[in-house]
Amino acid sequence: MIWTYGFIIMMNQRLNMENLLEKEKMQNVFNTGPDAAFISRLSDGSMIDVNDSFSDMTGYTREEAVGTTTLEIRLWRDTSERGLFLAALEQEGFCENMEFEFGRKDGSRFDGAVSARKLVIYGIPHLVCLIRDITERKQAEAQIARLIHQLEAERNAARQNSLTDSLTGLSNRRSFDEALKTEFARLKRSGAELSLIMLDVDYFKNFNDRYGHVAGDDCLRHMAEVFRRIVVRSSDIVARYGGEEFVVILPDTGIHGARELAERIRKAVEALDIPHDVSDISKHVTVSLGVVTASPKQMDSPDPILSLVDDAMYRAKNGGRNRVETAVLLD
Ligand code: GH3
Ligand code: MG
Ligand code: MG
Repeated sequence: MIWTYGFIIMMNQRLNMENLLEKEKMQNVFNTGPDAAFISRLSDGSMIDVNDSFSDMTGYTREEAVGTTTLEIRLWRDTSERGLFLAALEQEGFCENMEFEFGRKDGSRFDGAVSARKLVIYGIPHLVCLIRDITERKQAEAQIARLIHQLEAERNAARQNSLTDSLTGLSNRRSFDEALKTEFARLKRSGAELSLIMLDVDYFKNFNDRYGHVAGDDCLRHMAEVFRRIVVRSSDIVARYGGEEFVVILPDTGIHGARELAERIRKAVEALDIPHDVSDISKHVTVSLGVVTASPKQMDSPDPILSLVDDAMYRAKNGGRNRVETAVLLD
């Protein structure tokens, strides 16, 4: 842009001096500069001169352009953009590197940075205007923006994948560990209760042996659907804890609410009516659930809560399966 400013300054000087030699020098700079340049009358916008770069950039020869306005040759995309440009010019008396999209004779578009200054030539107000083609820079910027967007999307997807169980779409064990730590710390501060439900499918090994691994996987997906249907509070987190074990984190939830939810899950699994003719206790798939409610306030880590919910779940197994057992750890 250095030549732009030089040119505009020279233009000022030349017009004051009206020196023939300077005029020639000026004409030379005007004609050979790399930016499209035109001079127009402020009163009606008609162009009195354009340079070669203007013709190269817009497709209009000097003869075609002189006498018309930039609106007539559709250099501006619309009058509002030209209005913005003129308003800036009106305020400052000049403008530098305002970026717009311009039109060529053949209807194609290019991005340009326009710099302009008002000049009084022989007592008549004129506008000298230079447009630099910045299409390549704009394309590079757009390409970079697209790449950044793509990288962010990939990073988010990778993070999402690293926290999601691919079979069921529920949170995975890693996500569960993080969430439990976070909720434990939050509830330790607030003094509220934290409940966990742990669920294990009954006689699932027999199920796999009898119906096959694919059917086993389908069964686990059905479990996930039950959780999605029943555990709807946005603060609750359901995760696949291990092979056929699932766990639910219920922040700010007491034992009654947690037990009731566990019962609803148990009944909903029964209601799925998935045949299981090698189960010792039922003709369809059932689950055993452990529920624990604890107050993190006096605790140092969530580990005792986890071990209690595990115990409760095994009590449900040993007590005959297809049932809910509870434990409470309150101060
Ligand atoms: P219990 O009633 O005592 O829970 O008996 P179980 O057979 O369900 O318990 P066990 O832990 O012995 O067996 C769990 C079985 O779960 C073992 C494995 O075949 C099956 N399993 C674990 N993960 C998957 C999985 O991703 N897909 C399928 N299809 N089966 C799985
Ligand atoms: Mg198990
Ligand atoms: Mg099991």
